[in-house]
Amino acid sequence: MKKSKVILGAAGGAAGAAAAINAVRALKFTPQTKDYGAQTPEHVDAERAMAHLSQAISIPTVSYPDKADVDFTQFEKFHAFLEEAYPLLHKTLQKEVVNEASLIYHWKGTRDDLDPIALLSHQDVVPISEGTWDDWTHPPFSGFNDGEFIWGRGALDMKNHLIGVMEAVETLLEEGFEPERDVYLLFGQDEEVVASGEGGAKAIMDTLKARGVHLDSVIDEGGAILPVDVKGVINGKSLVGIGIAEKGYADFEISLRSKGGHSSQPPKHSALGQLAEVIRDLENHQFEAELKPFVTSLFDKIGRSCTYPVRLVTCNLPYLKPVIKAVMKQIPPAASLIRTTTGVTMAEGSPAANVLPQKASVTVNFRMMPGTTIADVQDHIRKVVRNKNIEINILKAKEASKFSPTDSRTFKIIEELCMQESKDNIVAPYLVMGGTDACYYEPICENIYRYSPYRASVELLLCTHATNERCPVEAIGPGVAFFKRYIRKASAE
Ligand SMILES: [Zn+2]
Repeated sequence: MKKSKVILGAAGGAAGAAAAINAVRALKFTPQTKDYGAQTPEHVDAERAMAHLSQAISIPTVSYPDKADVDFTQFEKFHAFLEEAYPLLHKTLQKEVVNEASLIYHWKGTRDDLDPIALLSHQDVVPISEGTWDDWTHPPFSGFNDGEFIWGRGALDMKNHLIGVMEAVETLLEEGFEPERDVYLLFGQDEEVVASGEGGAKAIMDTLKARGVHLDSVIDEGGAILPVDVKGVINGKSLVGIGIAEKGYADFEISLRSKGGHSSQPPKHSALGQLAEVIRDLENHQFEAELKPFVTSLFDKIGRSCTYPVRLVTCNLPYLKPVIKAVMKQIPPAASLIRTTTGVTMAEGSPAANVLPQKASVTVNFRMMPGTTIADVQDHIRKVVRNKNIEINILKAKEASKFSPTDSRTFKIIEELCMQESKDNIVAPYLVMGGTDACYYEPICENIYRYSPYRASVELLLCTHATNERCPVEAIGPGVAFFKRYIRKASAE
């Protein structure tokens, strides 16, 4: 036999062996089979919860950036409604109003030596965009229940969650439950508009901090139960994202000054022309991407739940990291999970078509990964933009949150409750893209999780802040049951 044939034969054999090893590895690459036990039965009055959600939606607690625009009588109405709807809760828990309309409910536990838990929600909703009122199938503040959905602003963001928490506590009280730890229900009034940090959530946190309260855990909006079905890839599973962090937010205005003058005698590059270069520099020099542990954990969990042929690839995830990173960078929604994003959104030149700009500016929206600060973004702009004459101005900014641990008692409780609900749930830590009130609690809590126990399709989730926001009726009972189970477990030692 010729030498080359021997080498070829050996190579073929090695490849065959590798394929066989891979096939076995793919067979074994399945979801971890931990026994989470059976779901405990919970009594829930779903009809009552639905009626209360409809009522809650019918009170337009709309928040606006300018406090003068806010109709605080609607918040008073909302508080009065809660008082009427949940008599036992109001008899047992201590209620306090701070920052005009934010609510603190304090449920005293039987043990003073344990840190309290907190369940968050915001009372406010975003307004209905001008000219879209008639696009709604049912009026946005009707709370109409057609048997399939409850319609209206706040149905998913997040009066469903607030009512779920209230129903859970009222029912637990009816059943005579007493928590070991203190339980706080903390409902801010301006989550949708606050970016400066001087809103309801901060006022609530300050109040608690001044009293020396340190929270064991916080649960707020952010994650949900998303059905995932991709033919031939993954079947009949649901992705349960538990938000362990949220991205930061920063609007930067970058401007250039120039002589201006009449547009009939323009220079080679006007201020706007020079600004175009600035924009190109920013877009061509994206922030470094990094596969944080939560991303690999997410891929691992999804990869294990895929069909066998797909697992032939996904079982090699640890070796594919560079490829995954390269691919993710090319897909905007995936890229946003692994790096600070740069979105050039607005530009302004002169006020007239025949006038050269004396000042041209561009607004760039950055969403920072945890670990990247507002100051880092400013340094990045200075570094990558070649034109050193730019002026940089921060319009609005909020730092990214920290990462909460995935091995805490609370994370494990949420995971366990979700896995007991269905073995087809894929529970994974997640990075929340938008802002929530939860991050304001960082000074008094290390275990902050963003999770809403409501099953909703991507299509439905896209209706939040938009037309036809609605909550599936069948998700309401399980939502209340989740909060009952969660309070039982999380408030225990
Ligand atoms: Zn919200």
